[in-house]
Amino acid sequence: MRNLLGGKGANLSEMTNAKLPVPPGFIITTEACNAYFTHDKQFPEGMWDQVLAAIKTLEESTGKRLGDSRNPLLVSARSGARVSMPGMMDTVLNIGLNQKVLKGFAELTGNERVAWDAYRRLIQMFGNIVKEIDRHKFEAILDEYKAKTSGGRDTDLTVAMLKDVVHDFKALYKAELGKKFPDEPLEQIREAIGAVFNSWFGAPATAYRNAEGIPHDWGTAVNIQTMVFGNMGERSGTGVAFTRNPATGEKIVWGEYLLNAQGEDVVAGIRTPHPISELEDDMPKIWKEFIKISDRLERHYRDMQDLEFTIEREKLWMLQTRTGKRTAFAAVKIAVDMVNEGLIKKKDAILRVNPIQIDQFLHPRFDPEAVEKAKNKGNLLAWGLNASPGAATGHAIFDADTAAERGQAGEKVILVRPETNPDDVHGMIESQGILTQRGGMTSHAAVVARGWGKACVAGCETIAIDMDTRSFRVGDKVVREGDYISIDGTTGAVFKGKISTIEASFDEESELVTLLTWADEIRKLGVWTNADNANDAARARAFGAEGIGLCRTEHMFFEEERRPLVVKMIMSEDESERQILLDQLLPFQREDFEDIFRAMDGFPVIVRLIDPPMHEFLPTKDELNEEICQLKLNIKNNPTPAKQKRLKKKLKETENLLDIVESMWEVNPMMGLRGCRAGISYPGLTEMQVRAIFEAACNVTKEGIKVYPEVMIPLVSHVNELMLEREKLEKVAKDVMKEKKSPLDYKFGLMIETPRAALTADIVAKYADFFSFGTNDLTQMTYGVSRDDAEGKFLRHYITWGILPNNPFEILDRDGVGALMKMAIEKGRKANPTLEIGGCGEHFGEPSSVEFSHIVGLNYVSASPFRVPIARLAAAQAAIQHKYGRK
Ligand code: ADP
Ligand code: MG
Ligand code: MG
Repeated sequence: MRNLLGGKGANLSEMTNAKLPVPPGFIITTEACNAYFTHDKQFPEGMWDQVLAAIKTLEESTGKRLGDSRNPLLVSARSGARVSMPGMMDTVLNIGLNQKVLKGFAELTGNERVAWDAYRRLIQMFGNIVKEIDRHKFEAILDEYKAKTSGGRDTDLTVAMLKDVVHDFKALYKAELGKKFPDEPLEQIREAIGAVFNSWFGAPATAYRNAEGIPHDWGTAVNIQTMVFGNMGERSGTGVAFTRNPATGEKIVWGEYLLNAQGEDVVAGIRTPHPISELEDDMPKIWKEFIKISDRLERHYRDMQDLEFTIEREKLWMLQTRTGKRTAFAAVKIAVDMVNEGLIKKKDAILRVNPIQIDQFLHPRFDPEAVEKAKNKGNLLAWGLNASPGAATGHAIFDADTAAERGQAGEKVILVRPETNPDDVHGMIESQGILTQRGGMTSHAAVVARGWGKACVAGCETIAIDMDTRSFRVGDKVVREGDYISIDGTTGAVFKGKISTIEASFDEESELVTLLTWADEIRKLGVWTNADNANDAARARAFGAEGIGLCRTEHMFFEEERRPLVVKMIMSEDESERQILLDQLLPFQREDFEDIFRAMDGFPVIVRLIDPPMHEFLPTKDELNEEICQLKLNIKNNPTPAKQKRLKKKLKETENLLDIVESMWEVNPMMGLRGCRAGISYPGLTEMQVRAIFEAACNVTKEGIKVYPEVMIPLVSHVNELMLEREKLEKVAKDVMKEKKSPLDYKFGLMIETPRAALTADIVAKYADFFSFGTNDLTQMTYGVSRDDAEGKFLRHYITWGILPNNPFEILDRDGVGALMKMAIEKGRKANPTLEIGGCGEHFGEPSSVEFSHIVGLNYVSASPFRVPIARLAAAQAAIQHKYGRK
């Protein structure tokens, strides 16, 4: 009955039903709260009468009476919504106290101090929470008296002092409100109920709901509950505990308690609480009972519980139980342990872990204690963007060459740069992590680091890097080259000095691997990976990838020895010249593919034929113009004929290159000569690639390796492009297999990344063995938004202004791009029933997009290596929650 009673109330009721020791009480429902707000903040009709009747019942069952000085009933008014909103709403304790009741209460308990302390707390809470008097004003009075004691703590206040505090509190109350503090218990209750209702629309609760997406019309219940007192001397106390360790998941009751304390003293940090395990020595009987209850509650709710309890003169009372919040590590361990203990099913365990959190397992992280220490020492320097998760510690190095050198020598280094570019890659490889001053989440440093699973903090604007002195400065703190720094790519924090790290682990024995194995038993979607080289492929396989869904071939052309060949190839004037250059490129490609096929032994590998804007290989127009000017100037100033001749020759070459660059220049390169258009325009280019793929495949087959090559033709928009490329390329493939006498199980297919390809899926499917949705480009073209231009600019505003619910490049747009996909899948499969359909955009490592892929019935999703485990879990969750391939 959580919706009606709120989480706290429902659980208190359930504990009561289970005959656990819960202070008696009653609950005013969330419905009443909502009615209160629709009735102009008046209690709904009949509610107050019901409250009075419930109080009567409470009096009968406890034998205590409201306002009775001989045996007074005191209560708390506690908020409690459907879902836990920790600390966001209000609770008033000790309701029912007044000067007269207090005397009797003191006599009854034999403890005058408790009575006065409870009274001053009531006035304080009531004044602050119900009447909104600034809480600092109460605290100032309290501090004044505490200062007069030798210990300076709450508990050091004498009875006489507490009486003075009460006097001053009441005076403050009167001065602030012009009215006396209400001594009538029923009035206190009525006002407290209203205040708890009102706290539903208080600023903190409203903000919390907005952040968490909790509806504003749920309302809060009010729990009126008999007070129990943990502050009745050394045989009393109060505490909070988790049934398992919420940080590690270890199955051991974990928490803290304080003797002689009430309610929130434990969390408030007034005194340092003791670890719960010490209760065993302090009160062995209570400890035993508590452990039993804790175990019972966990079995009942079949999840780790977060408990509040109070001990009143050696009697244990349970005040709250709820599902405990936990770290990713605890979530996984608890879920797996509970299956092994027979508490929950595998399916439940799979649903209990947020796939995104798995990422935390795959990267090293800082030891939380060491981080605390560093913060306390003032070593936290700055915050940047948490661009690539993981923690790294090492010597700060300010250029890539030095980083590469020292890294190779076995030192731990962190590359610190204003920003990075492709020339820094060799230094990035050898670094533990990368820190940049400029650039966003999609900057070069961020993208490269994420690909490798290296920690990266990007765009850390507050570090002022000075390349002359090779140092950076934050305020008055200076970090020089060679100094130790630590960066946390998960949070974006940058520290001075060394912080110890805990290594990532993905070993067979771990709970995470167990959970993922269970996920594999359930999921329908295949999980493949995007990998461009053998290293990434091997890593992805270790993470559980079942194929390569996208192997890009561009980078193979960008590498140092190969790039000049590519440039010459682009510029070559006749076919035969071009062919010579392509023949030189072929062995490089073949070797790359051989390595990848070996790493993926037994699994399919989709190789995408070249798809870069060709102009990226050439210098820019501006660069060339500048060079030409310079050459002309030099010719003028250089009279020696020999030199003149050389310079003129160079000038001619450069002018030639400029002509070519100008002829290739595109206003809109992202919609220019890309994908299969390049393959079609440069005869021999994709033929060379396919030859390399099949030669490699045949070669490694001879080594006993199983290869399933799939050739993917990119950026098709018209079926004729596909037909043309496929016909010419399949011929090459067949030739190679014949030459090598090695038949292979291969496929040809296309990437669906233009809306037109999706719209004509039934036509293209006839010439394809597979489709793979390239959702990055498909999203760009469906929205008509260029990602590179939009993401840092208007798209960000669109999201903050609520024009878009989220970034469509991160979370697949189901209504638009998704509709195209659905249609293409349906049409494609109808035209070609054996069509294999997958997806290889960045989306496919994101849980909601994986869920959608399951719903529409893709055969597999392909995610970057570090997202493979996330996709495995997300696919299993989708399989539990949705039918596969729903029409
Ligand atoms: P929150 O939801 O913010 O934790 P609670 O309603 O749980 O608020 O109450 C705040 C504190 O007061 C808790 O420490 C709780 O244990 C204590 N408390 C609430 N009601 C009682 C009661 N009837 N007797 C003793 N302590 C109580
Ligand atoms: Mg609580
Ligand atoms: Mg593309």
